[in-house]
Amino acid sequence: MPSPVRVRFAPSPTGFLHLGGARTALFAWAYARHFQGKFILRIEDTDRERSTQVATQAILDSMAWLGLNYDEGPFYQMQRMPRYCEVIDDMLARGLAYRCYMPTGELDALREAQMARGEKPRYDGRWRPENAAGKTPPTGVAPVIRFRNPDGGAVAWDDRVKGHIEFANDELDDLVIARPDGTPTYNFCVVVDDIDMRITHVIRGDDHVNNTPRQINIFRALGFEPPVFAHVPTVLGEDGQKLSKRHGAVSVTEYDDAGYLPEAMINFLARLGWAHGNDEVFSPQEFCEWFDLDAISAAPSRFNIDKLRWLNQEHMKRLPPETLGQRLLPFLEKEKLDVAAGPPPAAVAELFRERTATLIEMAQAARFFYTEVAPDETLLAAQIQPANRAALEELFALFETLPWNRESLNAALKDASKQHGLKPPQIMMPMRALVAGTLSTPAIDAVLTLLGREKTRERLRAGLRL
Ligand code: GLU
Repeated sequence: MPSPVRVRFAPSPTGFLHLGGARTALFAWAYARHFQGKFILRIEDTDRERSTQVATQAILDSMAWLGLNYDEGPFYQMQRMPRYCEVIDDMLARGLAYRCYMPTGELDALREAQMARGEKPRYDGRWRPENAAGKTPPTGVAPVIRFRNPDGGAVAWDDRVKGHIEFANDELDDLVIARPDGTPTYNFCVVVDDIDMRITHVIRGDDHVNNTPRQINIFRALGFEPPVFAHVPTVLGEDGQKLSKRHGAVSVTEYDDAGYLPEAMINFLARLGWAHGNDEVFSPQEFCEWFDLDAISAAPSRFNIDKLRWLNQEHMKRLPPETLGQRLLPFLEKEKLDVAAGPPPAAVAELFRERTATLIEMAQAARFFYTEVAPDETLLAAQIQPANRAALEELFALFETLPWNRESLNAALKDASKQHGLKPPQIMMPMRALVAGTLSTPAIDAVLTLLGREKTRERLRAGLRL
């Protein structure tokens, strides 16, 4: 029986969760779900200066919005300090780590000399136990603790995205695992956590590739086989540059505020660097069913707002009208519309989902159902001409008793245009201007049906000055 899959998402709460981070979270979550494993959330908050509670909350909110539910955690690294210190003490006792008393100035001088010789700057191991024998630690220098990296050979792994990666051990110097004040360092905490949390797969951004060989060496020194690694490539902006605020380097929750559905966002993020045949529109459940690491592309992917808009509309079309109406409701309220005074949001959503790409656009397009309209005078003057005025007035009268449904409204509009020798748009366009204050509405018979007899007649009376 293979060990159950355990995947973690380990954000540093130094900012909001942007698209790149959300995509990493999504892949980790989907992998766990695909294999019926566990998804663990770990907040890596040891950078005390840059970590904030606000950022932590923003990450939790973003994950909740996307529906990336976790089975364990959130664990906070700051709450695990005693555990890290315990492991450090154990490593010191077993000779896996040692105290290094090299003053910062001396280390800087060493680096400069190495660089002057054209060498890569690296700590030379002068406080390794075998080199420090008989040396007296200088007074007044609080030591750092270094991990004793293996000498010679290479450290390698088969990355599930990037393929075989190998680093020569001689390129890695002895990593500082605790600072002079005793606080453990980032790469070390990650390993202790991944061991304690029994992580089987590490799926993370490829900005961490250089940390991986150091982490693998610490895993092995502690007697554990490292997990499987999958380093996912960066998400770039539309122009191929690093994501900037203009295109995506904003909190994913801003897409919530902008009227995107989480289903669409998941679909969009999933397609950033992953594909399943020609499938473009899929549900989060389908994604979890299909997702595997092998199909992740090793090349960076690009953010594309048109794609996101398209997917959002596709997902709006897929939702049952009732559900879409519920999603629309807060956006109508944000427009300060009196929702009770107009048609049910579900009916409005059904009418507009073919025409709008976001819930905000839908709420804005639907304003006229919920609020008074004051059509522009020039629009009315252009639409209501001597040629069609009589027909419109007749319709106003007819609407008092006409059965109020799409079929009869449609027939009435067509009849009126025919009888007056007009083309249907010569009636339908002014009708739109009168009841909606705009020429761009869904089918006018559907609009009138939803608007209702009373409001329709009120607006005709006002616009036609009857
Ligand atoms: N805390 C790291 C970050 O936010 C991720 C570390 C990891 O996944 O190993 O970039």
